[in-house]
Amino acid sequence: MFSYRHAFHAGNHADVLKHTVLIAILRHLVHKDTALTVFDTHAGAGLYRLDGDYAETSGEAADGFLRLIGAQAKPAPVVETSSAPTKATAPQWTPVIQDYLDLVASFNAKGSHKVYPGSPFIIQRLLRERDKLKLFELHPTDAKTLSANIAQLEVGRQVAVLREDGFEGLKKFLPPPARRALVLCDPSYEVKTDYARVVAMIADSLQRFATGTYAIWYPLIARPEAHDVPRKLKTLATKAGKAWLNASLTVKSSKLTTDEAGVVIRPGLPASGIFIINPPHTLKTALQLALPQLASILAQDRHATSALEFAT
Ligand code: SAM
Repeated sequence: MFSYRHAFHAGNHADVLKHTVLIAILRHLVHKDTALTVFDTHAGAGLYRLDGDYAETSGEAADGFLRLIGAQAKPAPVVETSSAPTKATAPQWTPVIQDYLDLVASFNAKGSHKVYPGSPFIIQRLLRERDKLKLFELHPTDAKTLSANIAQLEVGRQVAVLREDGFEGLKKFLPPPARRALVLCDPSYEVKTDYARVVAMIADSLQRFATGTYAIWYPLIARPEAHDVPRKLKTLATKAGKAWLNASLTVKSSKLTTDEAGVVIRPGLPASGIFIINPPHTLKTALQLALPQLASILAQDRHATSALEFAT
């Protein structure tokens, strides 16, 4: 069975990118009256503690979500200049980042940042009563935790937790009854075949339901398969005649380094991206503003940057 547990990674820079984009997409999709179905093919446990053992062991949220919180709470020190002292201020967040921070804050007591919502809770929070959410999670422990977390919401049949393979399970639901859907595909890529399965799932989904919105997260690591994902998705979307958008965020160099003893240090996850097919028309402008701000605040070295490509 898999060893990946999202609890170690909750609130990291990849979650910041993915969840900011997810919220921006959903805000747009719930504008139309027709019911929406959202599929989260790799759901995780749903809710995480940033003060729990998993998160504290990895410390990844400290370089992700908690950095944004730190930037807004502690303005940079006052810079003395030859003229009047310049008072550095907390960042003026772009609207989609502010929306993300507000939504995470709504899961916490005022001023506290202990709880971090995963994609299932972020999505559910933005749905209307008539919308539906289908969550796939294969890991037995996380599926059980997810079911228990969702049960607390008391939303009945609005949300279904399926302990199934999300790549395969999606097929039987497409096209959805009201022909409006968002599919979030966020695998752990722990198994090398996930890269090809993502592309195969999207190819199949576009055949079944070409007008859906698809959001696929991928890591940008030193592995050819990882770089193939956005390249192949671009080809699929273009062949299907669909608009697409590809947003990526790099927080540090992907180069291996060595410590004083000559031991090789791997950079961890230096960058990630999210590829959207049939994106809302509002997303491009929202991300043109937000991505440079994320790159600047989440930078771990001078290689930090962001990129946005799209075809309409
Ligand atoms: N989407 C979640 C979020 O943003 O909060 C995080 C998901 S995590 C990156 C990926 C999850 O997929 C893990 O919990 C893992 O157990 C699960 N998983 C791995 N392979 C799967 C599969 N074939 N079908 C469904 N879930 C799978």
